[in-house]
Amino acid sequence: MSELKKTIESVRPPSFEIRETGVVESVRKFIVFASGMPSCINGQIVDFQNGSRGIVMGFKEDQVQILLISLGGEIRNGDEIYNRAEALQLPVGEAFLGRIVSGICEPVDEKGLIHPTDYFPVFRDAPGIMDRVPVEKTLETGTIAIDAGIPIALGQRQLVIGDRLTGKTTIAVDAILNQKHTDVVCIYCCIGKPYASLLRVVQLLSERDAMPHTIVVSGISSAPVAEQYLAPYTACMLGEYFMQKGRDVLVVFDDFSKHAWVYRQISLLLERAPGREAYPGDIFYIHSQLVERAGYLKPELKGGSMTFLPIVEILQGDVTGYISTNLISMTDGQIYFNTGLFNKGVRPAVDFGLSVSRIGSKAQWAAMKEVTKSLRIDYLQYQELLQMSQIRTSGLSKAAEARLKRGAAMTAILKQDKNAPATMEQEIFILYALNKGILDLLSEEQIKQFKQEFYSFVLASEPGLIQLLRKERALTQEMKDKLNQKLKEYLEQKTTTIR
Ligand code: ATP
Ligand code: MG
Repeated sequence: MSELKKTIESVRPPSFEIRETGVVESVRKFIVFASGMPSCINGQIVDFQNGSRGIVMGFKEDQVQILLISLGGEIRNGDEIYNRAEALQLPVGEAFLGRIVSGICEPVDEKGLIHPTDYFPVFRDAPGIMDRVPVEKTLETGTIAIDAGIPIALGQRQLVIGDRLTGKTTIAVDAILNQKHTDVVCIYCCIGKPYASLLRVVQLLSERDAMPHTIVVSGISSAPVAEQYLAPYTACMLGEYFMQKGRDVLVVFDDFSKHAWVYRQISLLLERAPGREAYPGDIFYIHSQLVERAGYLKPELKGGSMTFLPIVEILQGDVTGYISTNLISMTDGQIYFNTGLFNKGVRPAVDFGLSVSRIGSKAQWAAMKEVTKSLRIDYLQYQELLQMSQIRTSGLSKAAEARLKRGAAMTAILKQDKNAPATMEQEIFILYALNKGILDLLSEEQIKQFKQEFYSFVLASEPGLIQLLRKERALTQEMKDKLNQKLKEYLEQKTTTIR
């Protein structure tokens, strides 16, 4: 590891000349208070005489507050600190794909050195409004409940919110798995999570051959606090490299509640006044500055995009906590995971009542839009009707019974196994069959079978239809006729009658 570090040091861009020399006044855990560097600015790097490095986090009258990012030995009062007026820059490049790096971009996967293409500033301003264009492409998450009900566009920031163990990571990682067939670059940023959680994700990504298009940034709970704090910035920075090359990037932050904890810990040691829930007042600024870096660039800037899926954990379904309300207000929508649904076996446990995507539908495929016109409202009405019908079991009208049947089929469709992303075409076919009323006649088991088999059936007998759908992204009358024919053939094969 130390050798790796040495080599990284050697490939670092040449340092600037020493501008000022300061002195360590006191050390408090990973925070150093220093004096004698009046021209320091926030976010810049300082070097200690023993080789340690730190970033400037703030000021107090005549003192500079420094967060240690790499330790070269013990730091004592009176040690010298050098200010080279150098902003924090970390390596970026294509070579990072398929690798696991720490919060400060050092490889931690024992696969050897990473040769960077360039160095990018970690704290960078978000692209301005004139550099952006409205969203126009959809992110294929592979989860039918999301693609159909809460569509996400490339460049969007969509919060994933829910209690512990409700499937938040699963849905985000499934979205990464599904990018194997697209050319979206994925970044999974782990913040403050135990090593075991990260290992599970990495193992899954490796097993499913998703690492070649993915970078994992590890700010696990056992890593130094500075690395956990910097991990989301590093993930953004790595994404920006690809975005500026005109690529589409998906970044998953798992999770922001832990990032807020880390920042609270740093702030309390910096003696900043604690505010609501003991978080410092600028936590809103910290998170909004990060999520602002997502977006869709204009064609003159190569037209790349960054899509963010920040995850936030809440307690007992309470969305009114400080961190979660902040994040809800600064993202373009949220996917809310309901513990009740999860325990009832509705997985993914997406709650359509509390979930929303404010811009995703603008970029949705026309075909998907057509087959999901009333999906959400129908599903919510079904859930209410279901509750009512549990109270009053007899004397239901025919219309109510039909709606219950449709609702049951809808529930069966929206249930999806973990780590089994579906293609957009597959999802459209299933929803098309639902709208046709074909699935109302089938049992839950049969619907499950239909979901698995029908796509392969079309792929084997009419592959042109799937290619055409991907090209057109809409269902023409001719395609619908063909699809009807295929549905009929499939059902005949299954010796079930069409209504
Ligand atoms: P944490 O709070 O620990 O971060 P989380 O909300 O990220 O949890 P996951 O780790 O994704 O939740 O999932 C929790 C459990 O639920 C896991 O054991 C996972 O296998 C299971 N699970 C998630 N989604 C599904 C699904 N669609 N089908 C079946 N099981 C699922
Ligand atoms: Mg998780």
